[in-house]
Formats: sequence, structure tokens, C-alpha cells
Amino acid sequence: MVQCEMCGAETSSPTTVEIEGAELDVCDDCADFGTEVEQQSTGSASTKYSTDSSSGGSDGSSSADGASGSSNTRRHDMFDDMEEVVQDYDERIRNAREAAGLSQDELAKELNEKASLIRKLERAASLPSDSVQGKLERKLDITLTEGGVDDTEWEGGASTGEYTLGDVVQRKDS
Ligand SMILES: [Zn+2]
Repeated sequence: MVQCEMCGAETSSPTTVEIEGAELDVCDDCADFGTEVEQQSTGSASTKYSTDSSSGGSDGSSSADGASGSSNTRRHDMFDDMEEVVQDYDERIRNAREAAGLSQDELAKELNEKASLIRKLERAASLPSDSVQGKLERKLDITLTEGGVDDTEWEGGASTGEYTLGDVVQRKDS
């Protein structure tokens, strides 16, 4: 039971009313004296509104943008770099190096890198860093990234050079 703040009578379901700017929990009888206040909805609504607008405007949006935005792009970039390097980069490096007539040590010297790094790359024990990859590509005239022009041309040339699906079907029919 709650006491009515107007008349002091006990009531089980007080009504919150606004009387001359003050909010009072009153009994049903006294509720007529004031304007009924829907305390829960008004209270939560105003709190929600103020926190949302203030934190959402400055805090929320900026931190959300900063955190998710930068981490997303950074992760995306890293992923892209890793995916871009071709699967057979070790073979490509070794083949191109041998074609150039260079030993691992000689190639390492040319690139100003350690021979152990070249050995690791040719064993596919380590992915080339961006800078090493760039140096290898320039030095050996190779492409170590997926979707390179060399790759596409080679695959396209191979498939059209052999036979097309139409050829196969025709041959079967005739
Ligand atoms: Zn009352």
C-alpha cells in the first residue's frame, strides 16, 4: 500500500499526477486535482531520447565509425594482400630465378635480401612481403598476384587454344 501524497489516504494503485509543476503519487480521488503523468513512458522516453541523441550524435556515431570503419578496412586490406599472392608463388620465383640464371644467393644480393628469405619463399615456407614481392616481380619479370594479366591471358589462351565446348559437342555429334 502507498500513501497518497495529497490526502494521506492509503491506496494500492496510486496515480502519478502533476500539480502545479510537482509530480505526486496520489489516490484516485486526488488524481482529479492534477494532470495525470504517464511516468514510465514519459520518463523512459525522455531519458532514451536525450541519451540517444547526445551519445548517438557525438559518442556513438564517431566511435562506431572510427572503430568499425578502420578495423574493417584494415582487415579487408590484409585479407586482400594474402589472397592476392598466387598459390604457386614458390615455383614462379624458382622458375624465374633459374630462367634468369641466378642462384638463390645471387638473387638475394640483387634484391638486397637474405638468401635464407629466397630459400623460404621457394619452399613456400613464407609469404613474400609487399616490398619483397614487388622487388621479385620487377627483377624476375613475373607476377605473384592473383588476377594478374599474365594469369588471365595464359588461362584464356589455353582454353581457347585447345578446344571450346562447341568443338567437343560437334565432334561427338559427327
Ligand atoms: Zn488522496
